Amino acid sequence: MEYQAKELFAKHNVPLTAGTVAETPEEARAAAEALGGRVVVKAQVKAGGRGKAGGVKLAADPDEAASKAAEILGMDIKGHTVRRVLVVPAVDIAEEYYFSFLVDRANRSYLCIASVEGGVEIEEVARTNPDAVATVPVDPVTGVDEAKAREIVAAAKFPAELADQAVDMVGKLWNCFVGEDATLVEVNPLGRLSGNRLDALDGKVSVDENADFRHSEHEKYADRSADDPLEAAAKEKNLNYVKLDGAVGIIGNGAGLVMSTLDVVAYAGDALSSGDGGGVKPANFLDIGGGASAEVMANGLEIVLGDAGVKAVFVNVFGGITACDEVANGIVSAFRLLAERGDRVTKPLVVRLDGNNADEGHRILDEANLSGVERVDTMDGAARRAAELAAAN
Ligand code: GDP
Ligand code: MN
Repeated sequence: MEYQAKELFAKHNVPLTAGTVAETPEEARAAAEALGGRVVVKAQVKAGGRGKAGGVKLAADPDEAASKAAEILGMDIKGHTVRRVLVVPAVDIAEEYYFSFLVDRANRSYLCIASVEGGVEIEEVARTNPDAVATVPVDPVTGVDEAKAREIVAAAKFPAELADQAVDMVGKLWNCFVGEDATLVEVNPLGRLSGNRLDALDGKVSVDENADFRHSEHEKYADRSADDPLEAAAKEKNLNYVKLDGAVGIIGNGAGLVMSTLDVVAYAGDALSSGDGGGVKPANFLDIGGGASAEVMANGLEIVLGDAGVKAVFVNVFGGITACDEVANGIVSAFRLLAERGDRVTKPLVVRLDGNNADEGHRILDEANLSGVERVDTMDGAARRAAELAAAN
């Protein structure tokens, strides 16, 4: 959120006008009083385009700050409910620029995007006036030194009288980008205020969760309320789980296999409904990884079966280092574990095991004769069966 991004900016000495977070109209009034009366009240949600959506409002005095806050609090912006606002002094803006650092995956590099046509959506500027948008690759090894910062400022055509200030700001934003292990640092607008002062008027920072171990201080930015409860439970159990909206629960080993499983299930569901787009769809992505123990399988089943939308489950495993007999034993023990936890499996399960020790895996499953479990030998056949069962339930 903007106020959090600004907190990170401030840590790296990026120039900005500090504001106050308020959760009630009364707090907004008090904040406006302390800030000198004339303020801008800004919705704090993890979404852009708040201005257009009516989530950014100017208030002439503390009373108006309270009434604007009352209008904005509780508002829905792109599916996000506004729970707090940021109250900032209403500075006079002469010009609005755009600035960002981001990860350029296609080029295995970082990229700086800057433009003196800021304030609005940069995608729109790029479409209508591409020459106004500078894109400068940044070598991840050498980073941004003063010369690079000057190159960026020149490419973006920042006014000459602001060049030194802009170079300084670019360096500080780069420090923020690297220091916070960010994948995006964006300032839009980067304001030119009266007196020729540059000021980060809005901010957006995405941090790389792979670097969480270096940043225990980022924990407070996680917004658990926005997480899906099943995704939160899966995260707690260290499972790679993404909730989707369909009816076929998916469990597989290896991200690539699970991705293709989603595809074949979607295809099978579509074929069942004669391609009208209304067929059953995958309910989730769940990769139980290489060494799928009984406990991991039980945890995975518990999460997938805990989704009320799931009508059937497709377990698709290709035995590699973890052989199929171990996976089959995992499924059998998982059923026992779940029964012990009081979660008897009541939804149908289609299992496809192939690869290392598949025959032994099949034998174990057949012998265990678990109720509701069907074994299908091909991936397409199993996907079709799982889709059928889900459609019938
Ligand atoms: P976004 O729409 O979610 O990107 O929110 P922004 O923070 O970028 O605000 C949208 C617009 O509101 C900006 O482009 C500015 O024109 C205006 N705005 C934001 N903060 C201020 C401020 O402190 N003073 C004034 N006068 N306008 C502001
Ligand atoms: Mn903005």
